[in-house]
Amino acid sequence: MKKIAVIGGGITGLATAYYLRRYSRGTLDVTLIDSAPRFGGKITSSVEGGFVVEGGPDSFITKKAATLELCSSLGLDEQLLPSNSSGKTTYVWSRGDLRPMPEGMLLMAPTMVLPFLRSNLISWPGKLRMGMEMLIPPQSGETDESLAGFVRRRLGAEALEKIAGPLMAGIHAADPETLSLRSTFPMFLEMEKKYGGLLRGVMLQKRAQQRQPGMQGAKQKHSPMFMTLRGGLQQLVDGMLAELRPEALLLNRRVLGVGRDRGRFEISLEDGLRLAADEVVFATPAYATADLLQEIDPGLASRLRSIRYVSTATVSLGFRQGDLKRPLNGSGFVVPRSEKRQITACSWSSTKFNHRAPADRALIRVFVGGALAEDLAEMDDAALVDLARQELRATMGISAEPVLAKAYRWPKGNPQYEVGHQERVAEIDRMIASHEGLHLAGAAYHGAGVPDCVASGAAVAQSIATKHSINMDGYYDRSFSPTLCAK
Ligand SMILES: Cc1cc2nc3c(=O)[nH]c(=O)nc-3n(C[C@H](O)[C@H](O)[C@H](O)COP(=O)(O)OP(=O)(O)OC[C@H]3O[C@@H](n4cnc5c(N)ncnc54)[C@H](O)[C@@H]3O)c2cc1C
Repeated sequence: MKKIAVIGGGITGLATAYYLRRYSRGTLDVTLIDSAPRFGGKITSSVEGGFVVEGGPDSFITKKAATLELCSSLGLDEQLLPSNSSGKTTYVWSRGDLRPMPEGMLLMAPTMVLPFLRSNLISWPGKLRMGMEMLIPPQSGETDESLAGFVRRRLGAEALEKIAGPLMAGIHAADPETLSLRSTFPMFLEMEKKYGGLLRGVMLQKRAQQRQPGMQGAKQKHSPMFMTLRGGLQQLVDGMLAELRPEALLLNRRVLGVGRDRGRFEISLEDGLRLAADEVVFATPAYATADLLQEIDPGLASRLRSIRYVSTATVSLGFRQGDLKRPLNGSGFVVPRSEKRQITACSWSSTKFNHRAPADRALIRVFVGGALAEDLAEMDDAALVDLARQELRATMGISAEPVLAKAYRWPKGNPQYEVGHQERVAEIDRMIASHEGLHLAGAAYHGAGVPDCVASGAAVAQSIATKHSINMDGYYDRSFSPTLCAK
């Protein structure tokens, strides 16, 4: 029986092992190895006192089908929770207050004129500059551009400072000056190319939608953009673990290196154990994968190390509803760098999703660190909780003692898709393809969201199963294309 070793038991490694097992119907011997005392990697949910606290990701985007597919295949459909429409508004901390993002913003592009004009977030000169986007010719050529460069060029500096920087770079815990637009938000580049600009693109797309049969006068029906699971994303982890053979799950086992041994691979573990494998999947962060591949291909290892990671932390605080000084009538707020605060964003978790807190309680989560303030994410738990409380006092007026406080640190937790990322990854893909039997998957390459990670694991599983001539009929839903999902 062919032996497959999957190194790294975060969502990517778990999805790889799970789909390998499903596709192969037990004809491949799959082992999943992780250095941590638990599987799940960045996914970790804790349920206590009626609160559901997420340490890492709290939800996933539904436009990319891979996580929804996985939930269905694990029988978790009934557990899916859509984001609440009451949590639609995002606020921005600006000039001493929380100001709502104008209704109808497509991330950085306004799609509705009146709410945009009425908004007190952007100054009149800033609004005028954003409106002038219509007159700015599209940039020709294929060179990668930073988010900051693109937004400044098309919408102006204020749109970058107050909207695109905190909201879009914030998702990646990134510096907008180095974040690659093409690798993170390619739809805006496509809009520029296809329609000549964002505002024109938004208008034409809206008009085309309205012209669709049955759409005249009717409001478009939206499916929720984000979903989560009732008991937290940990349910995904537990669901996959339940489908894997317990003896094939190795925890607390750090892999030190991978070498070749007579046409197979030899995996060396920290405890001295050596495992032989016919195929090895690296579902570890790129810098960890680099160390493991050092012996086999130092050139590839050095390319992998060139993908930078930054540290982040989250702090979740539970409060009595009566202790809140304002309604949590939105998804939370983001903080522009120019405001010089110590948090980058704050999620009103119990408004975003139901079942995150008991009825008379509220759950709030703040984000710390990222490319522009990494040192803050390195503080210990108590200092992080103090910092989160200070910041909530200053921004939301909450001075009460929280009924729950939990901090999670993610050292080197977020890969940075910097300008040139696609070329870097294309080179890495080319180099790994020259090593038959070695595979890369995970957040560092073709998308860092949970659906991207699931899709990348499923794609590797598919390619290994195909190579070993496993008939996947009935096991593989052909409408689900992991490669498309990863885009
Ligand atoms: C704070 C935060 C919030 C996020 N929010 C969202 C969100 O809301 N929605 C979303 O879609 N995405 C979100 N993301 C991104 C997403 O969570 C991650 O990209 C994804 O979970 C990464 O999964 P992974 O399996 O590729 O890597 P990881 O989860 O990092 O797993 C890698 C595993 O490899 C193991 N490992 C490392 N080295 C070794 C070794 N030498 N030997 C053995 N094992 C090793 C580690 O222990 C770890 O378990 C967030 C990320 C963070 C940090």
